Formats: sequence, C-alpha cells, structure tokens
Amino acid sequence: MQLNPTHDVTRKSWLASANKPGCDFPIQNLPFAVFRRAGSNEAFRGGVAIGDQIVDLGALSRTTLLDGLAAQATSACAQPALNDFFAMGPAAWRALRHDLFALLESTPKSSATDVLRDCLVPLAAAEFTVPARIGDYTDFYTSIHHALNVGRLFRPEDPLTPNFQWVPTAYHGRVSSIGVSGQKVRRPMGQSMSPGEAAPVYGACARLDYEIELGLFIGQGNAQGEQIAVDDAEAHVFGICMLNDWSARDIQFWEMAPLGPFLGKNFATTISPWIVTMEALEPYRQEWHRAADEPQPLAYLESKHVRTDGALDIQLEVWLETAQHRARGDHAERLSRTSFKHQYWAVAQMVAHHTVGGCNLQPGDLLGTGTISGPTDIEAGAIIELARAGRTPLKLINGEERSFLADGDAVIFKGWCEKPGHARIGFGENRGEVHPALNAQ
Ligand code: MN
Repeated sequence: MQLNPTHDVTRKSWLASANKPGCDFPIQNLPFAVFRRAGSNEAFRGGVAIGDQIVDLGALSRTTLLDGLAAQATSACAQPALNDFFAMGPAAWRALRHDLFALLESTPKSSATDVLRDCLVPLAAAEFTVPARIGDYTDFYTSIHHALNVGRLFRPEDPLTPNFQWVPTAYHGRVSSIGVSGQKVRRPMGQSMSPGEAAPVYGACARLDYEIELGLFIGQGNAQGEQIAVDDAEAHVFGICMLNDWSARDIQFWEMAPLGPFLGKNFATTISPWIVTMEALEPYRQEWHRAADEPQPLAYLESKHVRTDGALDIQLEVWLETAQHRARGDHAERLSRTSFKHQYWAVAQMVAHHTVGGCNLQPGDLLGTGTISGPTDIEAGAIIELARAGRTPLKLINGEERSFLADGDAVIFKGWCEKPGHARIGFGENRGEVHPALNAQ
C-alpha cells in the first residue's frame, strides 16, 4: 500500500461541504464524471466531485491555474468523454489529482481560490452521462458466494461449476444499452420456458432482477497479441464505479446453454456517474486470501502484490424504492449490504485473465466484476438469492412482497469505503427504474 499526502485524513478543503462527516466526496476522494447543467444544452465535459460541488474541468482548462502534465490532463477531461484522459496513464491521473488537491486544500484566501470558485457547479444542478465512449463491455462472474447461492437453487448436489475456482470467468456484454444512474429500464420481452412445459412462451419478463457489481474502467490498454501481466494489471485500471447488471432470469435461464447470456442481459446496464480512482482507494486495500485447501491460482494469476493487498473493502448496499413508497412518501428499504472484499478473484486477476489469450483492451473499456455477494444471507447481491428464486418472497416493511422486481420499482445502490484513521471515500448513488414492458397495458 502506498499512501501519500492526498490520503491524509487531517487535510481539509476550503470548501466547507467537503469536510462534513459522512460526505461522499471529501478532498481525499476526487472522483471523475462527465456532466453538464441539468436541462441545459451545454456540452458534456469532465468534472471532479468535491463536497456538494463539481469542479468543471472544461472551465478549469480555460484558466491558467494548472500547468504541465496536469494542464494537459485537464484539457483531455474537457471533452464529452474521458477516453483520452484514460489513455494518458497513471502519471497524468496522479498529476491532476495532486494539483486539484493542492488547489482545493485549505489555504489563506488567494486569487487561485477565487478563480477555482468560478469553476464550480453545484452537484444538485448537474446531469450526467456515461463517462467514456465504451468500446467493449465484459461482465465477470467472480463472487463464489453468488455462484454458490444461485448454484444451490438449481443444482443443489453440485452448485459450483468445475471451472469457477480456476478461471475468473466472464461473458462479453452489450455497450449500446449501458446508461448512467437514473436510467429508465423497460421490462424486456423474450422467450422463457417453464418447468414441465413442452414449449417456450413469448412475453414480458416475469423474473426481472438486479445484480450489484462494480465497474472497472480501463485506462491504458494492450496491443492485440500482447498480455497484461497480473503485477502490471492495476496500472491499467483508471478507476471504479457501481454497476447494475439488470437480469431477466426467466429469459436468461432458457437461452443460456450453451453460449451464455444474451437477451437476458443485453437490454440495460446502469452505471453510477462517478468513477473513484484507484489512487483514492489505496487506503482500503486488504490481503487477498485463498484458503490452502482450495485450488491455488495458476502462475499467470498468482501475484505477491495481489496476496498482500489485492482485495478492496468497498462497502455496498442495495435499496428498493417501490411505487408505493413514493406514493406514500416512505423511505426506500435496504435489501442487502456487503463488501467487495469477499470477491473470489481480484481486479488484477480479472484484467490479466482477460488479456492472457492476446485480447486487446482499450481505454474506456468497461469490466463488470460480476454480482458481489458475501458469505451471509443479508450479503446477497441479487434478488434471486435473497428470495431464493421466488421460494421465499421478500416481505417489505410496508407489507409489499417481492420475489422479483415489479414495474415502478427503483433499485438504488450505495457504495463507500470507511475506516478509522482514513477519509470516507464515497461512490455516490446508482439508481435505475423499472418501467412496464412495451406491450403491457
Ligand atoms: Mn452480472
């Protein structure tokens, strides 16, 4: 773990809202998004969250506050997608973070502070878009607790597939339907096959689910035919957002053999607007553990660095806000709470495995981690696990029941890192709303 002054919890910003306890965006975080003023026809551009404000990197690029690599990085961030900034690599990411930190840190009132204040846009006044032109999206399947929870429902005698403990497995997903938090998700139509029936039926998905995941944005890629070694892999990751891999379970389970998910997954994926950088997450690294009686990683996935601090303690919650909650002015209800630290495969292993056959990753590619479930029941990352495929429907506090998602439901993810002696590093919120199927009345 390599900490520097930008991780120091005693440092404060001159912006008071950044110093409030519980704030997701203190000066130690500085996550990136692409935004504009809501309802305007302004161009989207990069921004960095601080307290209840956004540093408008488009506006900042037109000042003389920064120079050198940080100024070049700011210019790259002034565009409506952050791909060029991602492609600049860790030195540029670090230069911009450290210079922004210096500008935002408490100092006697200066002319620089006045100039920067003019570059701030209130968070509450912003709307967001997908922060990069995502070339390719891959969704992994790397939580052993999720794999076991789902496996036990359908193959109780043999819940884990034989490859799970050897391969950080994944499928190649769909980019066109990735949206940012606030996305309205139409319930998909498709084929499903009920047990005991002779033929499938076509209709609206009856088993709509979410999956709480993290999304990894690739910074610098690799040439086709080359590999990214596991020890170099994290330097190729710009940062992490939250990701909802909406899943139509009835469609998915009928179509999935032998080629994997298709229409069960390709109708929508929702990501949070803010990308938290790997540097901001540095204090929340943990030992990555593989029990001695389990298969050990093959050499290309083995790494002393991963063993020492390859796991990340990113805490995650799933909240459900039903139409009835909204109608009555009730709060959303928390369905589960877990941490990414339980994941069976680490970020570096996913990246290394993705490229081991020579597949080229590119700046702005998105890798989903797979559903993040922990070892206990309340840590399940999808409703199919919580309600055991409809066998034990969830009973909400307001009397409603859910086996799967209903029209009008909003699924809200929250994510953060927190521990004594370190600043809270928040991910904000990731929200998606379920809307009726196309032909539903
Ligand atoms: Mn998934």
